[in-house]
Amino acid sequence: MGRLAAGAALLYVLASPAAAAPIVDDGPLDGTTVERELVPPTGVARAQSRTIFLNRKGAIVRPGVNDAFKQTSTIVTKPATIGAWDVTDAKWTATVACMRDMWSRFDVTVTDVDPGSDPHIEALFGGSPADLGRPANVAGIAPFASDCGVIENAIVFTFTDNLPADPQLVCEVMSQELGHAYGLDHELLAADPMSYLPFVGKRTFQDTTAECGEKTARPCGPSAVACRTLQSSAQILRSRLGAAGGDGTAPTLVITSPVSHEAVSRGFTVAARASDDVGLTAVVLYVDGALIETRTTGPFEFTTDASLPTGAHTVMLEARDANENITVREVDVMVSEDPPWTAIGCSAGGGTTGLGSCAALLIVLRRRRRAVPS
Ligand SMILES: [Zn+2]
Repeated sequence: MGRLAAGAALLYVLASPAAAAPIVDDGPLDGTTVERELVPPTGVARAQSRTIFLNRKGAIVRPGVNDAFKQTSTIVTKPATIGAWDVTDAKWTATVACMRDMWSRFDVTVTDVDPGSDPHIEALFGGSPADLGRPANVAGIAPFASDCGVIENAIVFTFTDNLPADPQLVCEVMSQELGHAYGLDHELLAADPMSYLPFVGKRTFQDTTAECGEKTARPCGPSAVACRTLQSSAQILRSRLGAAGGDGTAPTLVITSPVSHEAVSRGFTVAARASDDVGLTAVVLYVDGALIETRTTGPFEFTTDASLPTGAHTVMLEARDANENITVREVDVMVSEDPPWTAIGCSAGGGTTGLGSCAALLIVLRRRRRAVPS
């Protein structure tokens, strides 16, 4: 396939070698820090892990790739037991409610029931940083990819021994850790859970674009090469998780013309049928990977460049919906210098017989055109 696998959207995953040194930041409370552990680029812009598992019962975690099902993590250097969060049921219920509310605008399921082997991010509430050999003042830690990609199946930690049993505060710390696993950096917008700036009230993921940083602005991302110059946490989460309301179904898309391996003449037309259960936002034509035209309404008929060189070319269409689901279809075509009737199997250079069949075919084509007025 071409740039994208058909219907699979923007997913490809690179292997994750060992983690590099942690980055230590100031924490949300005086004297605490929240760490992010740098992991190599993941290249994942669209999360498969769209379930967040809230675990207050403790866990045994082991070193390894980030895998919530196997309970392994790049953050863990040796097998460790994280104790349960000793909190009243009422406060746990309030924490779960806050987490559901915080993440309710995105196409993600927040649950305190273990999803097993289904892709998910595990939010582990409990224990102390000493359990993982971390400094005593760490309040939480999450892996963070150097390209700000999604880290599928990550485990993120909030050390409740270091925090007051305040559901809103714990929920905001955990949401920041989850944000890191989904590729968000710290930002200088106090109302956002990705921020360390003081704030009175309930933080929510903001649609406003903000500078990244803890106290002063810096490029976004954990490594020397910036992932982005600015960040809007809500916009990034929407593109990575989808918006709530759950149009999880990608558009349907069929290229009706040309067919695969068809010989076509210059300036040929590309025609397609596209639809979506909620609503299409665009159908985009690419030729040889270059964007040619975007249409937001049908009919989806595109005229290609008449100066396209002869030879093989790849025609790709992308259909998008409002939830940023993408379906891709492509066909290979052979652009010929010759008039179109040679392209459909009639030899112009033949003897009497060949010319005769050409002539006959042309007449048939002309009759068809007359018979079907447009
Ligand atoms: Zn953080």
